[in-house]
Amino acid sequence: MSSSATRSIRSRDAQVIANIGRLRFSPLAPIRGEGVHLVDESGRRILDLSSSGCPAVLGYGHPEIVQAVEDAARSMAGASLLLYPNEHAVGLAEDLLRLTPGTGKRRVWFGHSGSDANDCAVRVLQAATRRSRFISFIGSYHGNVSGSMAVSGHTAMTHTLPRPGLVLLPYPDSYRGEFSAEQVLQLLDYQFATTCPPDQVAAVFMEPLMSDGGIIVPPPGFLAAVQERCRAHGIRVVVDEVKVGLGRTGLWHCFEHEGLEPDLVIFGKALGGGLPISAVVGAADILDHAPAFALQTTAGNPVASAAARAVLRVCERDRLPHAAARLGAQLQAGLRDLARTETMIGDVRGRGLAVGVELVADRAEKAPVPVTTTAKVIFRAYELGAAFIYVGLRGNVLELTPPLTISPAQLDEGVAIIAQAILDVREGVVSDEQVAPFMMW
Ligand SMILES: *Cc1c(COP(=O)(O)O)cnc(C)c1O
Repeated sequence: MSSSATRSIRSRDAQVIANIGRLRFSPLAPIRGEGVHLVDESGRRILDLSSSGCPAVLGYGHPEIVQAVEDAARSMAGASLLLYPNEHAVGLAEDLLRLTPGTGKRRVWFGHSGSDANDCAVRVLQAATRRSRFISFIGSYHGNVSGSMAVSGHTAMTHTLPRPGLVLLPYPDSYRGEFSAEQVLQLLDYQFATTCPPDQVAAVFMEPLMSDGGIIVPPPGFLAAVQERCRAHGIRVVVDEVKVGLGRTGLWHCFEHEGLEPDLVIFGKALGGGLPISAVVGAADILDHAPAFALQTTAGNPVASAAARAVLRVCERDRLPHAAARLGAQLQAGLRDLARTETMIGDVRGRGLAVGVELVADRAEKAPVPVTTTAKVIFRAYELGAAFIYVGLRGNVLELTPPLTISPAQLDEGVAIIAQAILDVREGVVSDEQVAPFMMW
């Protein structure tokens, strides 16, 4: 028998899981989850302030997801939406069309991840519009398969070239103020007037709240102004709700805060409550463009679709968008309170339960802390009992995206752990060696 029974999951992980597919921010290796907690091999319960990076929108082991999955798996009505329609996928598409604002004839496409959904959007838009250029934003993350990677602008993607003709615009960050909304709009006008004729552009991809780029809330009216300019030239608008959609920001859709009317909306992560499913919702003239165009055999399979229906049902019945607004206000207030005395916190921002804490070495200069410092805060918080990750182009933003089912008391506990972790890191409790394996982005 192998030694796998005695060696920790973490040490076995390092031996067998490919490095190109890992993002480990701390030593946490859960063996199970319960509600908003992950439980590790020693039985320690860790408060998950990241929802595993957002999929676990209802936490872990939610009884309605469990029941839906069990029922759908027990009487599995086929395993491929491509070959046969199934009640769960068709019902889920109906739910998504009902919950997503939009006009005209619309359709739903299902995939497995945010990455394949954005990839499908790129290809179908190119085919349907007969235009091949795209616009997106520096800092945006649309996925990690070739097509979606190629319209992303994250620093973690610079190993792979963007697609030819992609125009990357700065995403105005009101904390850093490097580019104002007006300057970016001017740059877009200038691009259209010179080297990027707008009639070559199929679509603009936008995150309604830039997530992996650093939890950046766009200035009021900015994205709507981009939309207006694009619409004037027949350029389609794609809104990527993969990370912050489905209630997290306090409204069902983050784009509703921005007054956007997208042609295509991309859903993922929270949609499956932890199971792999993604969706593109939008204009039939795009999504009906061609049969056999974006085929993935198990996408829209009854089990993942049933889980997603359970997620939407619970979110709607328990008014979780409303809860996210209330809990998010509490979380932000707690962190702002902490920032009054903790000078390492340069900025606290976000919408609902999508909250970023930007760490700085110098408040006046807004100089970012080194990424080792961010990693140490995350490591120390894990030791103290809370899990979350960091994002941002400078690797200095703590990303807090807890399950929408978290309680006010648990949020307070999370803020207290963050406060203690920052204090401990300042006092040198965590060494460089300890975080060396966890410098992820
Ligand atoms: C995570 C993410 C994706 C990619 O989703 P995966 O499920 O990881 O493939 C796309 N867009 C945004 C905004 C994301 O945060």
